[in-house]
Amino acid sequence: MADYREMWKELDMDLEKHDGLCEVLPMFYDEVYLSQENRPENMNYYNFVISEVHGLRIKELQDSKQEGKKVIGSFCVYVPDEITLALNCIPVGICSGSQFWVPDGEKLLPRNTCPLIKASIGAKLSKTCPYFQSCDVVVGETTCDGKKKAWEILKDYMDVYVMDLPQMKREKDKIHWIDEIKMYKDLLEEKTGIKLSFENLKEKIELVNKKRRTLKRLYNFRKYDPVPISGKDALLVSQIAFYDDINRFIEMTNKLCDELDERVKNGEGVFEKNTPRIMITGTPMSIPNWKIHHIVETSGGVVVCEETCTGTRYFENEVDENANTIEEQFENLANRYLGINCACFTPNKGRVEDILNYVEEYKVDAVIYNSLQFCSTYSIEYKSVEKALKEKGIPVIMIETDYSEEDTGQIKTRVEALIEMIKEKKGVTA
Ligand code: SF4
Ligand code: SF4
Repeated sequence: MADYREMWKELDMDLEKHDGLCEVLPMFYDEVYLSQENRPENMNYYNFVISEVHGLRIKELQDSKQEGKKVIGSFCVYVPDEITLALNCIPVGICSGSQFWVPDGEKLLPRNTCPLIKASIGAKLSKTCPYFQSCDVVVGETTCDGKKKAWEILKDYMDVYVMDLPQMKREKDKIHWIDEIKMYKDLLEEKTGIKLSFENLKEKIELVNKKRRTLKRLYNFRKYDPVPISGKDALLVSQIAFYDDINRFIEMTNKLCDELDERVKNGEGVFEKNTPRIMITGTPMSIPNWKIHHIVETSGGVVVCEETCTGTRYFENEVDENANTIEEQFENLANRYLGINCACFTPNKGRVEDILNYVEEYKVDAVIYNSLQFCSTYSIEYKSVEKALKEKGIPVIMIETDYSEEDTGQIKTRVEALIEMIKEKKGVTA
């Protein structure tokens, strides 16, 4: 630990405040994660990553910086990792998921701002997030209004670059997004002094696709009944995917999948067969936001899929690897990224279609629509999702919440009622 304190000091962190954060996270993790029964053995790797979340991984980032690499932070799955990696940079997702940072965010942002934005700004302001402190530049985007305006504030504290994401998916929007990807490439070329080559980009397109395929492989195991991995553990793996070393992540997650494969062959699961199967859709869940999953899985249900940016939106659709020129590579990148169905787009029919498909694929009994408080795009879009699900006879409830624990009891009561209803429908006795 002593070594890390020195490192944190060099990163200009507020050590005293950071100690407060380090005290709560392990207790919380023990309660939510280590209390689970029958976890796959290979989850030990992710336990280790969490235990070293502010230690070893940060040390690795610092060592890479010594070797000339740059660390690039981002808040959205539209920022193309392929470009970041191809220009000798390390991408890290720095969306914040802890209530710990919200009060600091509220010092500069109105209270009625989404907790993800408040926590992200608070993490920087309070100097307690070593990822933020390690970033050479952070890349924001023009997805929602809250984020757009938050970047203006963040610019007073660090180097911020903003990508202008279109909010429709017409041909002219694609051309615009290709242009934005090129401008992002220009920024990184300038920062690193390296020129992007066709070969480098090809290699990284293949690598990021491989990571997507690994996550997809993991998610495919969640289609079985009994489910060989809990929703909480699958969510943790997805969350870690945003900042772990990409090659190691692929290797370790494939090892986990091999174990899940065995479990499926042996009919082994973490929950009983016929446990009510819940899909969660909505806003992203950044570490350590495990709130809804924990409620579901301690109320008699299991989460089998997340249609979120810390779920399917992160890994579905690969970048087409068939390109003969760098121009074609850019077009392929734009096509893949514009295939993500975020509520900040209009119209956004693709998201409803995705949700309906996942209901079938993952044999979902009910859907929980989770929206972070004050996120108008996701909460407004609830109506069209609700309508489509009701037409198919799939129960759905909307939960609007933040990172605090204040409403946990209330949410648990609603979730328990939902699960009871499914059990009755399936004829499952308690
Ligand atoms: S929900 Fe939308 S804005 Fe947020 S990370 Fe996902 S794509 Fe980006
Ligand atoms: S959850 Fe909604 S309001 Fe919050 S950052 Fe994402 S899109 Fe914006």
